[in-house]
Amino acid sequence: MKTVDFRPCECGIKRGFLDRRAAGKALGRAQAKRDRQAQRWEGAHPMQRENRVYQCDYGMWHLTKQSRRVYEERVALHAA
Ligand SMILES: [Zn+2]
Repeated sequence: MKTVDFRPCECGIKRGFLDRRAAGKALGRAQAKRDRQAQRWEGAHPMQRENRVYQCDYGMWHLTKQSRRVYEERVALHAA
């Protein structure tokens, strides 16, 4: 079995990556997985898609999901 490339961070987030590259790789894997699920759930909105990486105050990198609120604001913006 493959070793995990993330570990808990002091900020409280369970998945912390040591550098941006590792986080980016994990982000790509997460997105590929979501895309496969999205194809299966035809018409479903990708609410829980991890869409970017950021570095926290403790120096580790994390994936962040687009929040439902942000998504809805964006939809409202485009509908206007
Ligand atoms: Zn952190």
